[in-house]
Amino acid sequence: MKTLLPVPEIAIGAGRIDQLGADIAGLPGAPERVLLVIDRFLAKAGVAERIRAALAAGRRTLSLWDDLAGEPSGAQIDAAADLARRDRVQAVVGIGGGSALDVAKLVAAIAPGAARVEHYAFCAHPLPARPLPAVCVPTTAGTGSETTHTAVFTNAAGRKAWAWGPELAAAKAILDSSLTVSLPATLTAATGIDALVHAVESCTNANRFEANDLLAHAAIRLVARHLPTAVREPQNLAAREGMLVASCYAGIAINNAGTAIAHNIAHALGSLGKVHHGRAAGLGLRASLPWSLDASAPAFAAVADALGGPRDATALPGLIERLIGAVGLKTSLADELPGLTPERLALEMALPENEAMRRSSARPSTDGDLLHLARAVLTAA
Ligand SMILES: [Zn+2]
Repeated sequence: MKTLLPVPEIAIGAGRIDQLGADIAGLPGAPERVLLVIDRFLAKAGVAERIRAALAAGRRTLSLWDDLAGEPSGAQIDAAADLARRDRVQAVVGIGGGSALDVAKLVAAIAPGAARVEHYAFCAHPLPARPLPAVCVPTTAGTGSETTHTAVFTNAAGRKAWAWGPELAAAKAILDSSLTVSLPATLTAATGIDALVHAVESCTNANRFEANDLLAHAAIRLVARHLPTAVREPQNLAAREGMLVASCYAGIAINNAGTAIAHNIAHALGSLGKVHHGRAAGLGLRASLPWSLDASAPAFAAVADALGGPRDATALPGLIERLIGAVGLKTSLADELPGLTPERLALEMALPENEAMRRSSARPSTDGDLLHLARAVLTAA
């Protein structure tokens, strides 16, 4: 299947958030009641007030939901959706990292219905047909959630769950670099590497196709050019904007072609301990590349070229290593997951919820391969 799915309107510019009032007025039905889903630390840092000011023109009312720090639970999403129903909001604005955007998208999708979010997990039931329009404003670069049809949350059993559907598409994305300058260097690095892995996997996996590779390669070039600068010079707006665009393009690319084995490893690591998703994906890519290269050598060669190296797949592990080193990503997981055995990690990777990522990899994997990859990621120094 080769389909370039629809992309939301994307507005780009430092300070662009201050025009949010006009953006809301331009949505279908010119919504007057808006729910703002925002990371708590951003709300405390005054961003919620800035949004309130931007929305003040007209007779708009703003409901605020900021009970969010880290990955959202199903109960939190249901609470936000209940607030949206109670206040009869007509649009949802999400501002923050991937989690805040996922909550905003899920609330916009499920609030028109009555069911709890778990009802829709793993595509068990179709999402309500007419979602509220959602505006996504990423403050990390990142997950690319502003352009994907996926949202992730933790279910009642404490495990990662996902929902998928075109109903989860944002109506609009706003890429405002001024909102990302306060992101600490470690998070800038981890989220930026996540964007890189999205781009690399979408153009090297079994679902890749040329029309989509274009976006992935552009994202990889942007990461190579801007990520080390964004880590070194947090106030550099050009580097911050370059990374927002990279993350956005990479999000579009995975929406069309999905991820692969590095994300299988990352999701398994995320379920077994507290490892940042982006760092886990980067370590997953690093550990799996030598195993993956031959299955998709011309595609990996194109990635090496986009990173500024020779058009040669065998050069890629070294180029990734250099980039990971340049942004200071810690490669050993011994501190976070001290007792985790490769056998346990391989079992987690083989679970049905991770199967799509495993199967989309260019190289088919046996259970023995999973054990080999688990060993590679856990023994990294
Ligand atoms: Zn990712």
